Amino acid sequence: MRTVLVTGGARGIGRGIAESFLRAGHNVMIADLAESAKWNYQLANEGAMGEAITALLPLGHVDAVPIDVTDRASCETAVQRTIETFGGLDVVANNAGVVASGPIETFSESDWDGIFDVNVKGIFNVTVAALEALKASDDAAVVNTASIAGKKGSGNLAAYCASKFAAVGLTQSLAQEFAPYGIRVNAICPGIVGTAMWLDHLMANQGQAAFEERMEEMIPLGRPQQAEDMGEAAVYLASAPNVTGVSLTVAGGLEMN
Ligand code: NAD
Repeated sequence: MRTVLVTGGARGIGRGIAESFLRAGHNVMIADLAESAKWNYQLANEGAMGEAITALLPLGHVDAVPIDVTDRASCETAVQRTIETFGGLDVVANNAGVVASGPIETFSESDWDGIFDVNVKGIFNVTVAALEALKASDDAAVVNTASIAGKKGSGNLAAYCASKFAAVGLTQSLAQEFAPYGIRVNAICPGIVGTAMWLDHLMANQGQAAFEERMEEMIPLGRPQQAEDMGEAAVYLASAPNVTGVSLTVAGGLEMN
């Protein structure tokens, strides 16, 4: 049994990752915003964390801690709380992320900074805060949530794609740097999952049915991905003893690299 810290774990893909690790018998600390940060759509808050805990408690040892991944001190506190609660920390799932879309010409500097602060610096902050604990573990791993947007660029998603390419680059670099400690570092690259990113921003106000219909047309396997698909991939990557530096696409054939 290992202890896993999942950032952005209150909902969406992060909650799926938390659930999969619990089902695999691990301790899970969900870390997310206690108060929604100002963003283009509603982020998680204490209420969302409470709901996640209520739903996940029957599955195993799970607790929640507030975190703002853009703030190093907050990351250090969350890591400390995890170690106090479960006695150590073996796996970090750097999953917190935000999206904003639009033409680069009119894209705001604050959206650009917000995306890079969460999606890139967030991985740096949490990983460094956890590093001593990971070095002390005899089965340590980091699993970053990148994206198919980290494999191929898209118009009107420049900042997001650039941040996810950065997440893939960080994954490869840290895999090499941490290999001497036996810490594996990998990423999952989700395709399209019907979370707030899609339903409250990229396809806001179009509804679940329109989302499903578009994805059925777009995705070779004919359906959007589920948070559980990402959870299974994350558990695999955190457990495979000889796999590191990989960014594993889970996208129903929409992206194959
Ligand atoms: P989501 O908005 O439901 O989840 C993102 C989570 O990150 C939220 O719980 C949010 O509160 C949290 N978060 C945001 N800023 C934070 C901060 N500063 N500190 C701590 N937590 C913060 O969306 P999601 O789709 O579940 O996104 C999870 C990850 O998956 C993200 O990294 C996203 O880029 C990635 N992703 C999503 C898709 C998709 O189709 N939904 C595809 C590829 C990659």
